Amino acid sequence: MVTKSFPKQTTRREILRAGGALAGAGVLAGLLPGTLLSKPKAGSGNLQQIASSADRLAQMRAGWATIPLQTAKLRDNIYLLSGPGGNMVVLSGADGKVLVDSGIAAAAPKIKQAMDGFGGAPLKLLVNTHWHFDHTDGNEAMHQAGAVIIAHENTRKRLSTPQDIAAFGLHFDPAPADAWPQQTFTDGTKLYFNGEQLTLVHFPPAHTDSDIYVRYENANVLHMGDVWFNGTYPFIDPSTGGNIGGMIAGAAQGLAIVDADTKIVPGHGPVGDKAALVKSHDMLVTVRDRVRDLKAAGKSKEEAVAAKPTADLDSAWGKGTINGDVFVTLVYTTL
Ligand SMILES: [Zn+2]
Repeated sequence: MVTKSFPKQTTRREILRAGGALAGAGVLAGLLPGTLLSKPKAGSGNLQQIASSADRLAQMRAGWATIPLQTAKLRDNIYLLSGPGGNMVVLSGADGKVLVDSGIAAAAPKIKQAMDGFGGAPLKLLVNTHWHFDHTDGNEAMHQAGAVIIAHENTRKRLSTPQDIAAFGLHFDPAPADAWPQQTFTDGTKLYFNGEQLTLVHFPPAHTDSDIYVRYENANVLHMGDVWFNGTYPFIDPSTGGNIGGMIAGAAQGLAIVDADTKIVPGHGPVGDKAALVKSHDMLVTVRDRVRDLKAAGKSKEEAVAAKPTADLDSAWGKGTINGDVFVTLVYTTL
């Protein structure tokens, strides 16, 4: 479901406060897509707020740009690229490279340089796991470098039209046309490249309404996009269809197609395995159940947050972009 307006001031202030604390580290930037100008909203749209919103986003992009690009080999001819944006995966070979997600635009030269170092033929395809900025900001550069961009239909829809992330009070103009996927699908599609089969499958709305996973069938690697944050509470984007029920279902969908040897790439956090994904799934269920009980008992969102239902979990899961209070707010809002 699309939640057009995030429940009001308290929530928004809390989230912005949490985000502000982390923006310096460039972490929150990862959640934020688009081309970056705020617009006035009824009752809150003064010039100062607009400027601070745009400035905050510019700071986030700059923060991401300072994070070094790291490379790691996952399997023969399959590499992880991490740092400036969401986790990226490269499949290399004689047919041409397939890149999953494109990081932030400022990192595009480094990403291209790293891919050149893997040998094989030049970049041919770019797959987006979803529409968010930290996974698509490099799209324009990668397309201009020769890549055809493939993604879910909703990723093209989101990138080619104005978007808002109400939880952060942010508005995004359409991305440049070269950044839009040239090829889209609705349920799924398959790519046969370099002796590998890549299976792309749409998740029902989870983190957004545009999420897919990418499964490397022969290599036994799975890229979950932002349907999995390994080791932290995830961001859920209610403005573009995200909801806690979908996140739980998405984790279960991933678990159903992996085994103990599968290397599972999250959108954010270290590469993990089935056991780690089980832990995340179970945490999501626990928080969902607790917040649902509070909501069912008639607690308001503020009362639910004040009840600290994640107090025993926060030391383990609340150290990322999303702290316990923000996560409870996101869960409550999307139940
Ligand atoms: Zn995302």
